[in-house]
Amino acid sequence: MTWLTHRLRSPGGQVSWPPSGQHWRLCGSKQKEIRAPRFGGGRRSYGGSASARGIDPRSCHHGERWPIRGGDVVVLLGFVCREIVVFQVLQDVHLSEEARMEVVDVDLSDRTYPIYIGSGLLDKPELLQKHVKGKNVLVVTNTTVAPLYLEKVVGLLKANGSKINVESVILPDGEKYKDMGTLMKVFDKAVETRMDRRCTFVALGGGVIGDMCGFAAAAFLRGVNFIQIPTTLMAQVDSSVGGKTGVNHPLGKNLIGAFYQPQCVVIDTDTLSTLPERELCSGIAEVVKYGLIRDAKFFEWQEENMDKLLARDPDALAYAIKRSCENKAEVVSLDEKEAGLRATLNLGHTFGHAIETGIGYGGWLHGEAVAAGTVMAADLSFRLGWIDASLQSRILNLLERAKVPVAPPSTMTVEKFQNIMAVDKKVVDGDLRLILLKGELGNCVFTSAYDTKALEETLHSFCSS
Ligand code: NAD
Repeated sequence: MTWLTHRLRSPGGQVSWPPSGQHWRLCGSKQKEIRAPRFGGGRRSYGGSASARGIDPRSCHHGERWPIRGGDVVVLLGFVCREIVVFQVLQDVHLSEEARMEVVDVDLSDRTYPIYIGSGLLDKPELLQKHVKGKNVLVVTNTTVAPLYLEKVVGLLKANGSKINVESVILPDGEKYKDMGTLMKVFDKAVETRMDRRCTFVALGGGVIGDMCGFAAAAFLRGVNFIQIPTTLMAQVDSSVGGKTGVNHPLGKNLIGAFYQPQCVVIDTDTLSTLPERELCSGIAEVVKYGLIRDAKFFEWQEENMDKLLARDPDALAYAIKRSCENKAEVVSLDEKEAGLRATLNLGHTFGHAIETGIGYGGWLHGEAVAAGTVMAADLSFRLGWIDASLQSRILNLLERAKVPVAPPSTMTVEKFQNIMAVDKKVVDGDLRLILLKGELGNCVFTSAYDTKALEETLHSFCSS
C-alpha cells in the first residue's frame, strides 16, 4: 500500500498536494472537516465533520488512525491554533477511485444517512445495494425518467448476482399529478407485487417523484425503507435531502405529507446531461437561496461562476450540489422537524407557493416561482429597511443571470396572493410568518414581526391589480 504525505504549508490550515500543487483547506475552523485532495477531478470529504463522527479533533494524537469509508486517515499531527485545528494526514492512494465521489452526511443520530455525490455513481452497484434492506425493491419513477434511467437502475440493483426482486411503477409526469390519486398507483403496485415490511422504495426522478415516493414509503405498512436517486438539479440540491415528503392539495402545495428520512441519497451528476435547460435554471434558484440565507461566500462564488453553472461545467455543478447539500444537511440536522431554523430554507417560498397554486400546479416550475418569490422577499426586506439597496440589486442581477423569472406572472393579483398566503403552512394563530433577509448578505430571519403595510406595498408593486 502506498501512502502519500500532505505537506503542511501554514498554521492557517493550507496544505498543498505535491503532484498538482493545488491548495485546499485541510480543516475548517468551524466545521472541523478533513478534506481530501483532488484525485482525477473530484474532491472527497471524509464522511462529515469530525465532531459529528464522535471524534474530538483536539484529542487526536500523532499517528492516530481514523476509520473512514473505503480506507482510513492517519493523523500525523494535530494541534489547535486559535479556532483552527490543523491536521497533517496521510492519504491512501487506493482511495483515488472513490475519491471522485463526495460524501455528505445528514447527521440525525441513529437515522444519520449519507448523500453520495459524483459522476458515474449509477455504474456502482455496491453503492445502492448496500442500502437495500430485504429482498424486494419498488422503483418509483415517471414517464420521462423511465426511458432514460430505469433500465440502468434495475440493472444496478440486480448486478453481481444479487437476489433482489425489482418491481417498478411509472407515474405520469408533472406537478399536477403530485396528488393522492396518483399516490394510490404506488400503493396499488406495492400491494399487487407483495412488497413486505422489509422492502425498499427507490425514488428515481425529480422532486415530484422524490416527494411522492417518500410519502408512500412513510405510509406503506406504516413505514418501509426508502432511497432517493434524484435526477434534477432541484432534487439534487434540495428536495432529496432532509426527509420532507408529501403531495399537494388543490388548495395548497405540499399540505399533506410526512417527515421521513431516506437510507441514502445517490446523486449521479451525469443525469443532469439530459435535463432541459429550463429545469436546470429552476434548480439554480434553490442554489441561490443557500447563499442568501446562510452562506455569503457561496453566494459570491455563484456570482463568479453563474456562467459555468449554466454551461453545465461538471466541476462547477458538482461544487454547487455539494455546497448546497452541506448547507441543507447542517440545517436539517439542527432542526429536523422545522421548529424554527429549517423554515429559513423557505426563503421566497411563501410568495412562490402562492404563484404555483394561483396559476395552477405545473404552470411555472417550482424554482421559477421561488425565484420570483425571492425577489419579492428581498423587496419587502428592503422596504422594512433590513437590507440595503446594493444587496437587493445583487439578488435581482444574479437571478436574472440564472434565467429565472424575477416577478410573478401578470395573472397574479394582490387578492390572489393574500388569499393563498393565508393558508400557508407558516401561518400560526392567524399570523403569516415570513423568511426575510436582514443585515449583511447571508443573514435572514423567520418572523411575523414585520409591518404588514410594507407587505401590502410589496404585493402592489409586483401586481397590476
Ligand atoms: P420535477 O420532479 O417535476 O422534474 C422536472 C422535470 O424534469 C419533469 O418533467 C421530470 O420528469 C424531468 N426530469 C427529471 N429528471 C430528468 C433528467 N435527468 N433528464 C430529463 N428530464 C428529467 O420537478 P423538480 O424541479 O425536480 O422538483 C420540484 C418538486 O420538488 C416540487 O413539487 C417541490 O414542491 C418539490 N420540492 C420538495 C422539497 C423537499 O424538501 N421535499 C424541496 C424543494 C422542492
